Amino acid sequence: MPVHNNDIADIFNEFADLLEIKRANPFRIRSYRNAARTLTGQSRNISDMVREGDDLTQLPGIGKDLAAKIKEIAETGELSKLNDLKKELPDDLSKLMKIPGLGPKKIKVLFQDLGIASVKSLKKAAQGHKLRELEGFGDKTEQNILGEIERIEEEIKKHGGKERIKLFRAEQIAEKYREYLEKHKEAEKIQVAGSYRRRRETVGDLDILAVCGKETGLMDHFVGYEDVEKIISKGKTKSSVLLRAGFQVDLRVVQPESYGAALLYFTGSKDHNIAVRKIGVGKNLKINEYGVFKGDRQIAGKTESEVYKAVGLPFIEPELREDRGEIEAGQKGNLPRLVELGDIRGDLHMHTRYSDGRLTIKEMAEAARNKGYEYIAVSDHSKHLTVANGLDERRLAEQMKEIDKLNQELKDIRILKSIELDILEDGALDLPDEVLKDLDLVLCSVHYRFNLSLEKQTKRILKAMDNPYVNIICHPSGRLINERPPYEVNMEKLIKSAKERNCFMELNAHPDRLDLNDIYCKMAKKEGVKVAVSTDAHAQNDLDFMRFGVGQARRGWLETGDVLNTRSWKDLSEELGR
Ligand SMILES: [Zn+2]
Ligand SMILES: [Zn+2]
Repeated sequence: MPVHNNDIADIFNEFADLLEIKRANPFRIRSYRNAARTLTGQSRNISDMVREGDDLTQLPGIGKDLAAKIKEIAETGELSKLNDLKKELPDDLSKLMKIPGLGPKKIKVLFQDLGIASVKSLKKAAQGHKLRELEGFGDKTEQNILGEIERIEEEIKKHGGKERIKLFRAEQIAEKYREYLEKHKEAEKIQVAGSYRRRRETVGDLDILAVCGKETGLMDHFVGYEDVEKIISKGKTKSSVLLRAGFQVDLRVVQPESYGAALLYFTGSKDHNIAVRKIGVGKNLKINEYGVFKGDRQIAGKTESEVYKAVGLPFIEPELREDRGEIEAGQKGNLPRLVELGDIRGDLHMHTRYSDGRLTIKEMAEAARNKGYEYIAVSDHSKHLTVANGLDERRLAEQMKEIDKLNQELKDIRILKSIELDILEDGALDLPDEVLKDLDLVLCSVHYRFNLSLEKQTKRILKAMDNPYVNIICHPSGRLINERPPYEVNMEKLIKSAKERNCFMELNAHPDRLDLNDIYCKMAKKEGVKVAVSTDAHAQNDLDFMRFGVGQARRGWLETGDVLNTRSWKDLSEELGR
């Protein structure tokens, strides 16, 4: 993506804003603001200067450090230091930024003058008419802010009362906390349960279970964690804290003989647990978080398998525990053998520098090879997506030549020639058939006009699928978790039509997407449509998103055979023939 001088200036200004909020050294802040001004005042495109190797320190106010940062932004579109800084600030501050009308400048004033760092404290201050006195605020701003907060609260209420965070973020929080807890000498077993363990796409709060020697020491350790903002409660066997990220974490210490029963209980889902308990009742057994009891006598509970066995069930994988047929399948011995991360042999969707990715094809291929993959598909954007520097016929031909060369050079990984084609509004494809016929794999996606009617959107995608070169429909619902709802489309019809046309559906493993979702994965399986679990990586680390995709696939009951990219290249190439 071409980076303009103004883009770089915006990033510097945002960086300066956050530094101000953090009360960093004023000289440092000013140097970024000055640099931003220098950049917007330049007639030459700075990105071009970077490409041509010009010495940026010749520009007024640009030293070595700033020059390096400009280079980073010009090349990647991002400033990693800015991302780091965002992580350091209270999560709630970035929530404040989401309130329309509140920019960094106002947030800085709120934070510095009134110590406001959360939506809750902001609401209180607005209700107490404390905002109108602040510099840059007024009666009207105060009213508007209050109105926006109420609207946001209304939204949250609609979604079950509590704000849920994406699994990716929950994982960052959970794994760091778990590692910290494991360091304690009394900790024997530490396990994060709840919807986190079931790999749900969003997580409400974290339930951690522990088995340990002397309980009290671990509880002190738990509440002493650096990210704890508030201790909600602290007891011998249960404590709760609120993290600065605005996220509640509970720790329960259980006895070894109850560990399995507690793990089952706190992993949920509630519906699954009720169904299991019901079977227990039929066998005169009482099941709770302490174990399985016949009268007063405990007959099981040390492991989850023991509990399941007591009611005549095999072990049920956490991802299946939603009471969506897993109990019946378990009773009949029909539980799926879920796909695992280790079954994945390649990644069929990623971007390189040819469009909006950060790395070269070779760098991506090497990263994938290091993960043990046999193949990758290089699927850059097509020309319609100009903001992502999409490929036209000429640049695609260039890319194909480079891939041919790399396939000669790199021995233990195969690079597939692919593209992520835009589906145009009328269902036409963004590049002609004579170009598509030379590709190994054609992906296509809806990237704009999300607001078509159900009928039109469905027709649009079906028409794309009619093209005999199309293999995979990417991120088929278009949703962004917590940010953008899916567009209206008849997914059942898409899946059935994919079957008729020997097309496949993608489960986009990006943690913001996870699209197809679990329900539709199960539908695809039922209809006999294979699913490609792909990361849509734009950078090296994005390749690791595969674990989220596999988690969602498992929630959708997918087995190795249901997932396209568990095939060897030989088998895959046969599958792709239409
Ligand atoms: Zn896309
Ligand atoms: Zn993509």
